[in-house]
Amino acid sequence: MLAPQAPPHFAIEAKGLDKTYGRQGKGQATHALKGIDLAIPRGSFFGLLGPNGAGKSTFINILGGLVVKSGGTASIWGNDIDRDPMNARGAIGIVPQEINIDPYFTPEEALELQAGYYGVPKAERQTEAILRAVGLWDKRAAYARTLSGGMKRRLLVAKAMVHAPPILVLDEPTAGVDVELRRQLWDYVRSLHARGVTIVLTTHYLEEAQELCDTIAIINRGEVIACEPTPQLIGRLDKKTLVVTPQATLDQPISGFDDVAFATRPTGAFTLTYRTSEHSVEELLDRVRAAGVSIKDLSIEEADLEDVFVELTTSKS
Ligand code: ADP
Ligand code: MG
Repeated sequence: MLAPQAPPHFAIEAKGLDKTYGRQGKGQATHALKGIDLAIPRGSFFGLLGPNGAGKSTFINILGGLVVKSGGTASIWGNDIDRDPMNARGAIGIVPQEINIDPYFTPEEALELQAGYYGVPKAERQTEAILRAVGLWDKRAAYARTLSGGMKRRLLVAKAMVHAPPILVLDEPTAGVDVELRRQLWDYVRSLHARGVTIVLTTHYLEEAQELCDTIAIINRGEVIACEPTPQLIGRLDKKTLVVTPQATLDQPISGFDDVAFATRPTGAFTLTYRTSEHSVEELLDRVRAAGVSIKDLSIEEADLEDVFVELTTSKS
């Protein structure tokens, strides 16, 4: 008898994954993925972060068998997507970016149908438990077309979980989801993660990735430009900007700020951009006051995705 297969170290592994859209067709070809290497550890809560058009959905859809890759290899739970597509697909649940729910099925029917596709025996189906977990049990008999955007999104998550895959991928799941439902969604996803499910989340919100993910890969124009544990990545982006509105508009730049980036804004405010590892707000404010400026208002701006790119693409050494 064969020993049960040891779980793989990587839930998902891509090597040199490449995709060009429209090579044969008319119009311009788009090189959407440029030889991506990515290894997503089993058990991680992994963020795939990048702006619109970066290639996130292309990557996900290759894994889901919706997009045919142009080159490279990918495996899901140790199963090569070309050589062993059935096992590869069975190991992953994907919540697509686009809502594609048949409007004439109820949530209960949609889940039963999906379970049927995956060959889950009736006795093993978890329809009620899953619908309860995503907060749709009350709506089990409602036509999907009557559900709100947030409910549809949660129904997609439920559908992705019917075959109890060890990996759940969510492609930009918070689009059109309000704050309350977003919290519910994250509670559910976190509970799955706590039970050992590997979670992959794509987003263009740095904050979202930062809050949820233990590891973040940044993808830009079809290339992975960073992949590291979240604290390490954020640590590299420790820039903040202190925005100070003085009581009286400055007629000249204040002196004594050679060690931080000083700039002025058309509003009359000036900004001090600093590294949190090198300066504290308190120290900077003391120095502003010492320079004779009385402060009318102030705020702090954190690095956003744009800053991350600037930082990562200019400080590559
Ligand atoms: P993201 O999900 O990060 O926003 P996508 O993977 O959707 O990025 O898109 C990556 C690039 O590929 C973009 O330039 C996009 O316009 C292009 N693209 C995506 N899907 C198709 C398609 N079906 N046909 C042609 N080009 C596409
Ligand atoms: Mg996308």
